[in-house]
Amino acid sequence: MGQHASATNEVVFDNCRIPKDALMGELNQGFKVAVSELAGGRIGIGSLSLGIGLAAIDYAREYVNEREQFGQKIANFQGIQWMLADAYTDLEAARLLLMNAADKKDKGLPFGKEASMAKLFASEKANQVCYTALQLMGGAGYIKEYPLERYARDVRVASIYEGTSEIQRVIIARDLLQEIN
Ligand SMILES: Cc1cc2nc3c(=O)[nH]c(=O)nc-3n(C[C@H](O)[C@H](O)[C@H](O)COP(=O)(O)OP(=O)(O)OC[C@H]3O[C@@H](n4cnc5c(N)ncnc54)[C@H](O)[C@@H]3O)c2cc1C
Repeated sequence: MGQHASATNEVVFDNCRIPKDALMGELNQGFKVAVSELAGGRIGIGSLSLGIGLAAIDYAREYVNEREQFGQKIANFQGIQWMLADAYTDLEAARLLLMNAADKKDKGLPFGKEASMAKLFASEKANQVCYTALQLMGGAGYIKEYPLERYARDVRVASIYEGTSEIQRVIIARDLLQEIN
């Protein structure tokens, strides 16, 4: 559907033997090794979401500042201004959540819950922002001559890969409950 510059393929290891010196972590603990890498990746996918959301809304902001209807720039309409205000506010909050998770990771502190919160919020908000940005451009947002239709396709997978939004909530809730048990 989107992100066509990034090829997606299944990788299968069936009865695959590797030399001892190529072993990562302990024998038969591969799932743990793989899963432990996901938290860092979530900061990456959250940041990717933020980037797509910002690209989309920055483009739409320029557009509404030029497009005229009813004898004036559509950016003059308060309804349009509120859509911009909400979109940029959501993305700024996403940026701060991402920075917080990255800061904890840099300092060697536990950051799994923070990474899941940041990825959940950034990917969901970026999806909403791309919807808003496309809406702000009307029909021009939907056609391929403008970049919004691509941003809207590219952002969709952000709430799915590197753990779906539902799974991020499972991780966050598990961590929250562990804190009091
Ligand atoms: C473009 C693309 C690139 C990808 N790249 C990679 C990659 O590089 N490496 C990699 O390992 N994987 C990759 N994936 C796989 C991706 O991580 C998975 O698709 C994703 O984790 C969801 O798993 P699933 O597709 O098996 O969905 P399912 O697990 O079948 O989930 C289906 C639905 O059920 C929900 N669900 C499942 N379990 C629960 C639960 N316990 N509680 C509530 N809801 C639940 C999910 O949230 C989802 O809405 C990629 C996928 C895509 C589309």
